[in-house]
Amino acid sequence: MAGTVASKTLPLYKPSQAPPKAHFWRRFRKSIHLGCLLIFVFLPFFDVMRFDIPRQRFYFAGQELWISEFAIIFFTLMFLLFVIVAASMIYGRIYCGYLCPQMIFSEASMGVEKYLRTRIKKRFIHCNQKTRDLVTRVLFYLAIGLASVFLAFVFISYFVEPRDLLQRLLSLDLVTAGGIAGASATLITFLDFAFLRTRFCTTVCPYGYLQGLLADKETLLVEYRDPEQNCIECKKCVRVCPTGIDIRDGAHQFECIHCAECVDACVDVLGRLGEEGLIHYAWGEATASVERKKESWYYRMGFRDKKSWLLLLVILFYLSGLSVALSMRHPVLVRLSPERDTLYRLGDEGEVYNRFRATISNRSSEKAFVVLSIRDLRGARLVLPSEAPISVEPGKTVEQAFEVEAHPGGPSPGVNHFRFVSQTMPDGTTDSFDMTFIMPPKEN
Ligand code: SF4
Ligand code: SF4
Repeated sequence: MAGTVASKTLPLYKPSQAPPKAHFWRRFRKSIHLGCLLIFVFLPFFDVMRFDIPRQRFYFAGQELWISEFAIIFFTLMFLLFVIVAASMIYGRIYCGYLCPQMIFSEASMGVEKYLRTRIKKRFIHCNQKTRDLVTRVLFYLAIGLASVFLAFVFISYFVEPRDLLQRLLSLDLVTAGGIAGASATLITFLDFAFLRTRFCTTVCPYGYLQGLLADKETLLVEYRDPEQNCIECKKCVRVCPTGIDIRDGAHQFECIHCAECVDACVDVLGRLGEEGLIHYAWGEATASVERKKESWYYRMGFRDKKSWLLLLVILFYLSGLSVALSMRHPVLVRLSPERDTLYRLGDEGEVYNRFRATISNRSSEKAFVVLSIRDLRGARLVLPSEAPISVEPGKTVEQAFEVEAHPGGPSPGVNHFRFVSQTMPDGTTDSFDMTFIMPPKEN
């Protein structure tokens, strides 16, 4: 625990004295919270990242991945998970304090409640405390209720197409799966931000427990250091802590989410005495605070040991693999296969027919056309049931059976190897498929 109790009164700043960096981390954190809120809201609407459960599609970086492309989806999810784990190993619980939606909305909810309490106190100055509390509660629940509808809508938009979801919301649908999911998410969000808030972080959140396992001696943390016993025991650092702990009890407390509210509080209090704050971000307990040491940029960015460079290399490797996999995928997937229920069919004039099946999946957002042609099969022609090229609407799969016709004098008796070539428009990709054409055996 900290040093001695002091009876110093807090002086005002002298005009010649530069004020301390008041609320630096709070302002920094709030601007990141705003950025995160905008990202959270806009990601599903622009298909940057969304898992459409009814349509079984995964949207990532504007690409529409089908559930049949499970390898890329799995690779993408593993990449995101790895980034979170790597960030935790280097930057500790920065995710909790700066990026986690639960934390962002919990703090916003506490801020709204505090704001309403202050406003109602001023506005209803002649009313008794009970009335003021009642008005505050009603307005607070109203505000949180509306915010919950909005947040639940955004959250469910990650799993159901937003326009479809909006229609269900406007028609107050409580019957279909999407409607029930929306209503349940609204209720859970309301209960969470009205009552649970940061208690979630200190009780049930699994990431908090995981973090303890991932941290090492170089991981970023918030620590209290007071070798000269300058602490005046004002306890402001404790009062501002959103999880209600005393950072002076140690830097590795499970409840600490590294938000740096206590850093700002101490800078604010001791700054008025012309002293530096006693709480800092630091790269492990053994190092000096991040603000003081003059170090190269990569040291200040957290790349201080082999582990962090290795993590960065793995992320870059993973990212380049993912980029290659995404760039190589074909928006229109053409699959061709022979139908061998009967090996061949004979026509009225001795022509030989083999039957095939084309399955074409259009995974793009525009109508696609596929032209099939035959290579290396003498005198053969395609017999399609409809007009060529085959057209496929966006997001649809078309299956079409067709035949290849050859004349008796054309291919050799028995098995003939040839190729189908498919050309897709408008993306212009060309695919080649090795196939076999079966002719009747030669009669002796
Ligand atoms: S805010 Fe600073 S001075 Fe006040 S109790 Fe906390 S560590 Fe001590
Ligand atoms: S101890 Fe400080 S950094 Fe940790 S949660 Fe409390 S205020 Fe945030």
